[in-house]
Amino acid sequence: MRKPKVICLLMVILMAAALAAIGCESGSSSGGKTGGGNGGYGADQSYVIRACQANMRTLEMSAQAYFASTSQWPHSLNDLVPSYVRAQSLQCPAGGNYNFRITNDQLIIVCPNGHTL
Ligand SMILES: [Zn+2]
Repeated sequence: MRKPKVICLLMVILMAAALAAIGCESGSSSGGKTGGGNGGYGADQSYVIRACQANMRTLEMSAQAYFASTSQWPHSLNDLVPSYVRAQSLQCPAGGNYNFRITNDQLIIVCPNGHTL
């Protein structure tokens, strides 16, 4: 459980770099349009929240699977890709990456836009 932090950080950075490289090769179709402003619906705020909640549930379940096999919580999405999560860019639909916060041996997925489950 008690790995030196430096090594963890290094691994995260390395994995992020590797993912970025992979993303560049395959990502041209999925990468581009995130915001998009599709349609004129003022009410699509609730769609965003629901999509965000679905993402967080996916992350939670994946994190639990990760925990089951490693006895550690993942520190970021990078720890989960590609073995536990397929999507390399699982982000809040309103933009931004989720934060993984570990408190009292519990993992909490935190949306950068304050959405909650
Ligand atoms: Zn969100």
